[in-house]
Amino acid sequence: MITLKTKQRIVAKAIKKQKESAGSHSPSILALANQFPNVKIKVDACFLSNPYASKLFFKCLQQDFKKQNKFQDLIQYYPSQNAIIAQLVAKHLDISPQNIFLGNGAIEVIQAVIHNFVRKKIIVNIPTFSSYYEFAKEHIKVVYHQLDKQNNFTLDIEKYLKFVKQERPDTVVIINPNNPDGSYLKFQDMAYLIKQLKDVDNVIVDESFIHFAREKDERIKSTLKLINEFDNLIVIKSMSKDFGIAGIRAGYGVMSTAKVNHLLKNGYLWNLSGLAEYFFRTYIQDDFQKMYEKARVKYIDITQTFNNKLSKIDGLNVYPSQGNFVLVELTEGSTAFDCFNKLLLKHGIYTRNCSDKIGLEGEFLRIASRTKKENKKIIKSVKDLLSA
Ligand SMILES: *Cc1c(COP(=O)(O)O)cnc(C)c1O
Repeated sequence: MITLKTKQRIVAKAIKKQKESAGSHSPSILALANQFPNVKIKVDACFLSNPYASKLFFKCLQQDFKKQNKFQDLIQYYPSQNAIIAQLVAKHLDISPQNIFLGNGAIEVIQAVIHNFVRKKIIVNIPTFSSYYEFAKEHIKVVYHQLDKQNNFTLDIEKYLKFVKQERPDTVVIINPNNPDGSYLKFQDMAYLIKQLKDVDNVIVDESFIHFAREKDERIKSTLKLINEFDNLIVIKSMSKDFGIAGIRAGYGVMSTAKVNHLLKNGYLWNLSGLAEYFFRTYIQDDFQKMYEKARVKYIDITQTFNNKLSKIDGLNVYPSQGNFVLVELTEGSTAFDCFNKLLLKHGIYTRNCSDKIGLEGEFLRIASRTKKENKKIIKSVKDLLSA
């Protein structure tokens, strides 16, 4: 059993308070360090990003901005408007620019979509990324669809379709791979599901973690091309996780032209910063893509090794994940609170205590995969905790 020392318990309670005031998202390590200068974070396994991709992008940025003028230009001039950057990104994604809406982070796309297109009723699978129900306005009925722990939180398609038929929502949300459990539906299953949902006005598919999923080969199995077939489909994508650039705030949504036009008429003209525009202009270049692809595949390998090692540790139930994180359940009576704090205060490892996630019964932590070296440290620390 993991137990905290008296001193650790005092700090743990103060950290909990800070977390509560941050709402349903964890405080960043900067915010944490500000308030708790004595808590030394060595590994941030809370934030879900590919550290190799962060490094790659930062290297490009440093090279490009060696000349001070170019950076000054980025700051002193207006960036391009949403629709202009959309043209560049659409070309890269091989879709029509009229189908793409860029966001100051995917969170802005989620907010725009939920506020503008949900009319009465939305179905959200739980556990989930909280913004999908938190942004629903007061008159919207949020209906939760519980993912089955016994089924590793994987969506049971036929059961779900029956549920949708019964509830008759105007909007449904499917996150694939799902956050926080990493459960994944293969492309064929997603295509089938989307086809069956043709009578629902808005089918939101959040693919923020799709770059980490692996089917038979390395290709990314996005549903975004199905936009040409299904007018009700809305594919949402954050760039924060797979490119490791949460600080820049960049994401997009792919949806019908009517929806894109509606949003652009209601604001969002200059919603991307100069830095976000720079990111997208770098992202669409072939040589960047080649380097990124290497970083992506390498990181998936490292992540799968990490998952395997974690799943062999006694006292943990590790749920199969196609994300770059794993949901682990403590099976020997320790609480997620104690485990989270012990990992942080004794080992400097920051994870996500999932006790505030609705639809998760039990003691759960979400642990992100980091660099090879950091993952080793996480494994060692978790073993140390559970064998004590
Ligand atoms: C992190 C996350 C987002 C938001 O990403 P930002 O681009 O940083 O705003 C959206 N959806 C899911 C499922 C996420 O995990």
